[in-house]
Parts: sequence; structure tokens; C-alpha cells
Amino acid sequence: MNELSKLEESLDGAVTSGRPSATILVVEDEAPIRRFLKLTLADHGYKFVEAICGNEGLALVATLRPDLVILDLGLPDLDGLEVTKQVREWCQVPIIVLSARGQEKDKVDALDAGANDYLTKPFGVGELLARIRVALRVPRDSEGARPSTVQFGDVLLDLVHRRVFLAEQEVHLTPIEFRLLVALSRYQDRVLTHNHLLKEVWGAAYQDESHYLRVYMAQLRRKLEKDPANPRYLITEPGVGYRLRSQV
Ligand code: CA
Repeated sequence: MNELSKLEESLDGAVTSGRPSATILVVEDEAPIRRFLKLTLADHGYKFVEAICGNEGLALVATLRPDLVILDLGLPDLDGLEVTKQVREWCQVPIIVLSARGQEKDKVDALDAGANDYLTKPFGVGELLARIRVALRVPRDSEGARPSTVQFGDVLLDLVHRRVFLAEQEVHLTPIEFRLLVALSRYQDRVLTHNHLLKEVWGAAYQDESHYLRVYMAQLRRKLEKDPANPRYLITEPGVGYRLRSQV
């Protein structure tokens, strides 16, 4: 606690997003990346805590209760996927995984295990900060109370009456399109894997049918996007899944 209050003093007044001076735990074995993250996060008013391996990371999640975890997938002891699984057994802290090229499958597995988002190395400061802001915005209990309407941009979903409006004009969606849009909107700004969406919309038996998603995403874009070829809301994450971007 002493260490935290010292940190708090040193970052006096620095405010970044809705949650000032959020504590971010970085679990990463590569010193240059830890150093880069430390400087960048401190510069932007976040409290930085570091762990150099998976077991230390798990211990710090439990003791420090950080607001966000940035987790490297390639760690010397437990890999990031295993850390994600263990954290998710008891804690919903947002997790952004860091993956290297060649770790695409690990990245998708980590998202399926409950990670919120990912960054592929090398990544820039702007991208890092944007992902952090989004992850910190996700309410901790987003799977608890469900609202009766959801809005993003000029799209409004009425979940009770199962109706969708675009700029106040009703848009007719098929039942599958509606379920897909609801699944995306439940986790706005969070990347959802193909597996996650297929399971949620079609059921567990359809987890390999990624083409269903492509077809239905194209239909949703035609109905909701001004320019379906350059979507503002319904964003493709290549090789991973989709993301509903709430702030355009
Ligand atoms: Ca590593």
C-alpha cells in the first residue's frame, strides 16, 4: 500500500480516461518492452506495476487488484494463455494480451479464454493507449445486469421489443442478424472471436462455420453502415473475429 500511495503522489493530478490513475499490471519477460510500457504508461498518468513471469503476474493480480493487465503470451514459466485461464477462474479484470507474429492461434485462444483484447508486437503508443482506454471502459460486471436498449453512433437497439433503428428509422433484421448484433453490442469495443460469436449466435456445434459469420456480417453492414465496404461500427479483426466500435 505504501508503494502505491507513493506512486499516487508522484502521479499527482495526471488523469487519462474516465478512471484516473488506473493501476496497470504489465506481465512481460522482455525488459525493453517493460521499459517502453513503463515510460508510456507513467507519461499518461497510469500507475505501473510489473511482473517478469506468469506466476509473479498471478500473485500480483491477486494482491494488488490492478484495474487492467497487459499480458505477454510468451512467458518463461506459465504462458499467457494459462495465466488468462487462471485469472478468469476468479477475477474479471480486463486483460490485453501481447502477441508476437506467429502467435495468432495463441492470441485467439487467449481471447476465447476471456482476454478482452490484443496487441500485436510491435505496436505504437497511440494504439496501446486507445486499447487501454477501451478496456478500462468495459464495466467489470458487464455480464451481469443487461440494459434494455443499446446505442452506438446513430444505431439504437431495443432489446425488449427486438427492434433496431438507424437514425430513428426502423431497420428490419432477420432473427439471426438480430442475435449477431446483440452478441456484438453486449461487448462493445471488445474483440470477439469467430468461435465466441458462432457459439453465441448459432450454438456450440457451429464453431467451425466462420463463413456464416462473413455472410451475416455483410448483411448487417449493408443494413447499418453508410459505406458497407468501409464500416464504421462493424469492424473486422483479421484472422481473429469482429469488434463493434461504439465511438466513431
Ligand atoms: Ca515474451
